[in-house]
Amino acid sequence: MQKLLVSAVLLGSASALHVPVTSRSRPITMGTAADDMGIPCVGECDLPSYPKLPPSVHPGVVTGQALMDLLKDAKEKGYAIPAVNCVTSSSVNACLEAARKADAPIMIQFSSGGAQFYAGKGLDNKDYTAAIAGAVSGAYHVRAMAEQYGVPVVLHTDHCAKKLLPWMDGMLAASERYYKMHGEPLFSSHMLDLSEEPLEENIDICVEYMERMAKMDMLLEMELGITGGEEDGVNNEDANQEDLYTKPEEVWAVTKALMKVPNAKFTIAAAFGNVHGVYAPGNVKLTPKILKNSQAYISEQLGMPQGSMPVSFVFHGGSGSDINDIRESIGYGVIKMNIDTDTQWSYWDGIRAYEKENRDYLQGQIGNPEGADKPNKKYYDPRMPIRAAEKACAKRLMQAFEDLKCVGVLGLGDSKEPSNVLASSVYREAGARKGALPV
Ligand SMILES: [Zn+2]
Repeated sequence: MQKLLVSAVLLGSASALHVPVTSRSRPITMGTAADDMGIPCVGECDLPSYPKLPPSVHPGVVTGQALMDLLKDAKEKGYAIPAVNCVTSSSVNACLEAARKADAPIMIQFSSGGAQFYAGKGLDNKDYTAAIAGAVSGAYHVRAMAEQYGVPVVLHTDHCAKKLLPWMDGMLAASERYYKMHGEPLFSSHMLDLSEEPLEENIDICVEYMERMAKMDMLLEMELGITGGEEDGVNNEDANQEDLYTKPEEVWAVTKALMKVPNAKFTIAAAFGNVHGVYAPGNVKLTPKILKNSQAYISEQLGMPQGSMPVSFVFHGGSGSDINDIRESIGYGVIKMNIDTDTQWSYWDGIRAYEKENRDYLQGQIGNPEGADKPNKKYYDPRMPIRAAEKACAKRLMQAFEDLKCVGVLGLGDSKEPSNVLASSVYREAGARKGALPV
C-alpha cells in the first residue's frame, strides 16, 4: 500500500470568504513575539506586510483573519502551503530556512508524539502532560523564530483522535491564556481527527470544539474518511477500502453543522485514498475527483455559482505522491499538503551522508587518517550531523514548495545566504555579541 491522505479545508461559512481584510493591529499589548520575548529584531521581522500577499499577513505566526486571508490567497492563486511535522527546534528551523529560501509561507505542525518528543522522552507523559508542554514549548519557539526568518507561519497540530482530547484541551487552555494577554490564540489552528467514530459523533465533538476555538479566532481542521497507512503510532493499514474515500454528502453534513457556530473557521480533511507513509509505486490509488465532486455538491447546497470552490482541502499523506495527483488536487481547492515521511527521510539522509563521508573521523575522540593523535572534535560536534540533516531537509522542502506552486508567494525575492553575526564586520561594529542571531 502507498500513502496519501487528503483533507479538505473548508473556508468556514460562506460569509467568512468575504470578510474585509484587517490590519495586523488588534487590541494587543505587544507588537511582535520578538518584542514580547525581548529578542532583538534585525531585518525582515519588522516587515509590516509582503508585496504579494494581503496586508494582514505578516512575518511570524498568523492567526484569525490573517490566516483566512492567506488561505484565500492560496485558493485564488492556485497554490498550496506545505505543512511539515516537526519534532525538535532543529526541524522547525529547517522549515523556516526552507520557507525563506522559497519566499513562501509555511505550516509547522506537531503531532502528539512529536510534541511529546519536543518535551523530551525522559518526561512522564501521563495524561498527555508532556505532549501538552512540548506543543506549547514548540509553539513559543516557532513564534520567536518565525519573525526572525521573516516568513508567515501557520502554527498547527496534527491528528488528534478521541483518546487524545486531553492533549487538545491542554493546548486550548494555553491558547485561551495567550488570547487574554495578546488578543490572539497561541496556535493558529488544530486538527481533530474523529474519523474513526460514527459520523454523528465526529460532527458533535467537532461542533463542541469549534465553539470553544471560535471564541479566540482559531481554525479547526477536521477529518472525514480515513487516511490509510501508519503514522505516529496510529495504524490504519487494514482500513476498509471504502472508508478511504469521502462522500460529498458527508462533507456537506459537517459543513452545515460547523457553519452554525458563530465565527467558525474550519477546514475539512476529506480522504480520497490518501495513505500515510511511502510505498512502492502503484499501491496507492488517489482519486482527487472526489474533491471536485464535493466542491460541486457543496456549492449547490450553498446556492453558489457552478465552478465555485467553497471548500479548501488539505492533502494528508503528501509524501511519495505523484506530482500529477498533487497538481490536480490543487486545482480542486487543496490549499495545504501535509508532508512528514519524506522530510523524515531527508533529515535522516543528511545524517547518513555526513557519517558516510566522515566515517574515519567519527570512530573515537582522537585519531583519524591524518594521525593517531589528531582530535576529532569538530567532526563529532552534534551540530555537524544535525546541520547536515537540516540542509538535506530544507532541500527536500524546496521540492515540496515547487510541487505545490508555492515559490515566490511572498514577493521578497531571493534571500541572502545567511551569515552569522560573528562573520559580519557590519554587525560586529554595530555591537553584535557572540551568540547573537544570524543576519
Ligand atoms: Zn495525516
